Parts: sequence; structure tokens; C-alpha cells
Amino acid sequence: MSKINNKEIRCSFCGISKNDAQMLIAGDGAHICDRCVTQAGEILTEELKQRKSKSLQTTLKLIRPVEIKEHLDQYVIGQDDAKKVISVSVYNHYKRLNQKVDKDEIEIEKSNLIIVGETGTGKTLLAKTVAKILNVPFCIVDATVLTEAGYVGEDVESILTRLLQAADYDVASAERGIIYIDEIDKIARKSDNPSITRDVSGEGVQQALLKILEGTNVNVPPQGGRKHPDQKMISVNTSNILFICGGAFDGIQKKIANRLKTQTVGYKMSDEEMEIDLQNLFKYITPLDLKNFGLIPELIGRLPVLTYLNPLDRETLTSILTEPKNALIKQYVKLFEYEGVEVIFDKEVYNFIVEKAWEFKLGARGLRSICEAIMLDAMFETPTSKEQGEKSTLHITLDYAKQKFAKSDIKKLQVA
Ligand code: ADP
Repeated sequence: MSKINNKEIRCSFCGISKNDAQMLIAGDGAHICDRCVTQAGEILTEELKQRKSKSLQTTLKLIRPVEIKEHLDQYVIGQDDAKKVISVSVYNHYKRLNQKVDKDEIEIEKSNLIIVGETGTGKTLLAKTVAKILNVPFCIVDATVLTEAGYVGEDVESILTRLLQAADYDVASAERGIIYIDEIDKIARKSDNPSITRDVSGEGVQQALLKILEGTNVNVPPQGGRKHPDQKMISVNTSNILFICGGAFDGIQKKIANRLKTQTVGYKMSDEEMEIDLQNLFKYITPLDLKNFGLIPELIGRLPVLTYLNPLDRETLTSILTEPKNALIKQYVKLFEYEGVEVIFDKEVYNFIVEKAWEFKLGARGLRSICEAIMLDAMFETPTSKEQGEKSTLHITLDYAKQKFAKSDIKKLQVA
């Protein structure tokens, strides 16, 4: 009797009998076999991937430069010039992606960017925020770990492995992503004299980056590391990947000042021409200064949009501490709220934190370490010292902040 029943039960999709299938899953009046489940899973993944790419295209179309800047304003304080430049070039870049290229049509060139600014002034934050707004895969790579192929260090292709990972190995989505290359200034040519030893982590890397920045098909090792012959590679086209490079370019101010000096000697400046702002020489940076610093002209040519970030003054540091959507102070308030604790910071505490960050010369990055030093004990003790559901208040006064700060070993951070 049961034998006959077995014969009758078949997969409702492909008709395979229960005996021939490895497994048959029963539903409401229907059955499905293991093979159909696998196949349906594959169809689903593929379809969802395509839908994601399509929706990506439509969202990209919608975001105009003014809107991009408005979003950036919510997370990044000040830096208006850079925000404008970035908004426009990112918009143009994605406009270019949607362009259907006819033979006679003017092809819009890629607008890879280079951002120059002291450490902790928001270079990474800008790049990260732009990617978030556009909802595209994003990764940060450090130029200092890269070396020319065949030498100790990471091959330049490993940059793309990171992006692939960020895109969950969805190649189509990675091919429209954004890569932030940090510390690009550290791969400057080491000296002007061609030497006997190869400059494998400087000029060698710059050379290796050229093709990737411009747009080419690259075979990427999916797990990173060195390429080896048996590894299965994934082909990634970099034509539509936007590269944003950032660097502090320590010492470039001198080169800018020298150039400006010779210019002002050579030409008489008219009245409207600005008085030179010596506190912020980055403002006057040109591609020529990058070349003098040690970037090769071919690389500079592939990073056609150059912008700068202003150094952060005390006022800006205070704003960074309290104003952005995810400002540090707001984050602490939220963290304690989960414990049923209301945290109140005295105004003088903000000034104290900013003053210390200023001393440390770490830009806004110092703010976090100082806040952590002040808040650590409270964050450690509160979860156990309180009954669940009980409400309380934590008042952070200047004395409290000073005392916790003095107790911490954060002074090690101090830059000489
Ligand atoms: P870098 O210029 O070295 O790349 P980051 O972008 O990593 O600096 O900035 C370090 C941290 O400082 C960020 O996580 C961010 O919280 C804060 N920060 C820096 N500049 C700004 C800014 N202009 N507005 C808001 N936060 C900032």
C-alpha cells in the first residue's frame, strides 16, 4: 500500500518521483524536490541581484549635487569647498555611468578625486558618507601596505578584493562602488634621482595603480593575498569604480609657499587678489605641487579633481563633538539611554575635551580617545551598579572630566 503511495508522490515542479529524488519537501497539497529547491534558490539570487542593480541605477539618477551636499552637511562639519567639489564630481561620475555611449557622442571622463588635508580633518568621513548616501559598496585601503607585484606586501589588485568583499561578491555592484585610498602621499617617489634600488613601495605602486584608476579588467583573487596560479580569479572592470585618494602631504605647504612666493614676485598682484592665508596654504594647492611632492604626472592625471580640507579650529572641533547626526556626545547619550541613565554634560566639559584634542594635534580623531578616557569608568560600572528598569542621571562636570582624564593613560597620545 505504502509503495503505491510513494509512487504517486511527485515533485509538483519537475515531476520527479519521491523514489528518484534525494528529498521531497511537502507543502500544502504540493511537493518540491531538492533539485528544484536549489534551482529556485539560484534563480532567486540572480533575480534579486539584477533588481538591486536596477534600483541602484534609479537611486543614482535621483541624487543631485545640492542634495548630496545637504546629506554631507548632516555628518560632516564645515569643509564647504570640498563638499561642493565632491558632490559635483560624484554626481558627474554617476551621470557618466548612465550615459549610453554612441560612437560620436562625447565621452565623459572619469572624475577620480584627490583630497588633501591634515590628519583627522574628515577625508575618510567624506568618502564614507558619500558612498552611504549613494548606497554603493565602499572600502578603505591603505596605500602604505601596497607594493609593486612580486615584492613583500600586498599587490595593488588586493584593493579590489576589499571592494568585492564589501559588495558581498556581487561583481556588478562592486563595479559601481567607491574605493578610498588613504595615505596616498606615502607612496610618493622617494627621491628625484633614479637609484640602484627599486622604489617598490613608492613609484612602483604609483605605476601599478595607473591602469586600475583609469579603468581596465583586473583578475582579482577573491580572498586577497598574493596571486598564485591555481587560484580562481574574479574579473572586475574598474572603469566605473570611483577612486577617492586622500593624504596629509606633510611638508607640501612649504612647496606651495615657495611657488606662491615666486609667483607674487613675478607678477604684481591686483587689489582683488587675495591676501595669502598662511594658516591654510592647502587652499592654493595645484597639481604641480603634488608633482613636486613626488606623485608622478601620470597618476596626477588620473586623479583630475583636486580638493583640500581646512585645518580644524577649536570652534569646529566643538561643533564636531556635538552637532553631526551621529556626533560623539549624542552617541554617549544614546548608549546610556539604553541603560535607563540620562547623561548631562556641562558646557565646560566640551571646552575641556576640545582643548585637549587641540593639544594632541590629532584633529577630530583625538576627540574620541579623550571622551573614552572620561566616560570609560561610567560605562564599565553602570550596567552592574544599577537595578534593571531603574532610572537615574549621570552628571558629567568639569571636575569629573578632569579627574577621569588625569587617571587615564591617554597622555601617551600627546604629540611632541
Ligand atoms: P582623516 O582626514 O584622517 O581621514 P577622518 O575622516 O578619519 O580623518 O576623521 C576622523 C574622525 O574625526 C571621524 O571619524 C569623524 O568622527 C571626525 N571628524 C573629522 N573631521 C570631521 C568633520 N569635518 N565633521 C565631523 N566629524 C569629523
